[in-house]
Amino acid sequence: MTGGTRVTAVRVHDVRFPTAAAGDGSDSLNRGDYSASYVELATDGGPTGAGLTFTNGRGNELTCAAVRALAHHVVGRTVPEVAREPVAFWRSLTADPQLRWLGPEKGVIHMATGALVNAVWDLRAKLAGVPVWRLLAELPTDELVRTIDFHHISDALTPDEAAGILDRGRVGLADRLDQLTRDGFPAYTTSVGWLGYPDQQVRELTRAAYAQGWRALKLKVGGPIEDDLRRVELVRAEVGPEVLLMLDANQVWGVDEAIGNLAQLVGVDPYWIEEPTHADDVLGHARIAEAVGRQSGGRCRVATGEMAANRVIFKQLLQAGAIGVCQVDACRVGGVDEVLAILLMAAKFGVPVCPHAGGVGLCEYVQHLSIFDYLRVGCSLAGRMIEYVDHLHEHFVDPVRVAGGRYQLPVAPGYSVTMRPESVARFSFPDGPAWR
Ligand SMILES: [Mg+2]
Repeated sequence: MTGGTRVTAVRVHDVRFPTAAAGDGSDSLNRGDYSASYVELATDGGPTGAGLTFTNGRGNELTCAAVRALAHHVVGRTVPEVAREPVAFWRSLTADPQLRWLGPEKGVIHMATGALVNAVWDLRAKLAGVPVWRLLAELPTDELVRTIDFHHISDALTPDEAAGILDRGRVGLADRLDQLTRDGFPAYTTSVGWLGYPDQQVRELTRAAYAQGWRALKLKVGGPIEDDLRRVELVRAEVGPEVLLMLDANQVWGVDEAIGNLAQLVGVDPYWIEEPTHADDVLGHARIAEAVGRQSGGRCRVATGEMAANRVIFKQLLQAGAIGVCQVDACRVGGVDEVLAILLMAAKFGVPVCPHAGGVGLCEYVQHLSIFDYLRVGCSLAGRMIEYVDHLHEHFVDPVRVAGGRYQLPVAPGYSVTMRPESVARFSFPDGPAWR
């Protein structure tokens, strides 16, 4: 490994795809052009590190600006320097004295941190010649523990507890890896039921997904409740009782409204209700989890995490018994380092991780996290699935490969979010040919 490779520049691209017109990605609150603040770390002779954070349309202007504001913490660094003192590096970004006021560790500034931190992990894995999941799975326990900032979470997870989980994860790792290599990682699809799709399109997409081998599907809800019920019943009727059906309200309901609507929706036997209310409402999620557990005889759980800002919010969600599924996002939190903390807390609290994906590049990212989680942290596939959305993969050099409803293991070195140069050029906003 050319360990001295130094980051010489950070290039930021405002890349947007015109998805809004077709209703792709539409839910109860979000409708826009799927976008990525795409980050490239230029190096002095080594590979280029790639990272991104996913946003929606004009939101991309802000995350791109935030990446530029943080970039000086990365320029001039070498990978071994970062690996020697990962928390110090991470805090240089998250505790920048002039920028921390914008978070702390949440929103635009933290998403920009995620893009940069992930780009460094991509570079590190490319230099090591392995995919990120393998780099992580093969790191010694003490090095993984040393990567985590335990500040503000050690009341829920101590470094010793984290080390215990990671040490236990070494047992049987080779067998689990053989199994994943052979069978792939279980997945579910969100592509059948965007809120902007008419019933006939939902029906046709559901049939096609079933025929392709999908046995777990997710539908958007959060419109008028009679519309939600009709759509969900339509899909349930198409796929029968055995298929897992997940519902996603994208935070549109109040707490009492969620409990009232779920009393009707549990009739279709959903496996989870995702983001039933505002992402910050930890105690509200706990109330909904208690109610929906009662309404469904314990069959339906609450899932959230795609907009959970950081490890501290996940700590509270877990401590409060507010989630039965942890949906960490690869770049909303501050990159791989913080995701490690969240995976380990979820394992300690016995909550399965089904990462949030879709968007642009999120499927590419999170496959690495789920694979690592299975190999070294959670060590079980029970209740574990990776979200899959069939959009925009063609823009990546090493796109996800999904067959028969399962992710195939990525093998190329890095974190899989390197974009094709021609896609970056074509969809760059506002000057790319797609936008002129
Ligand atoms: Mg969602």
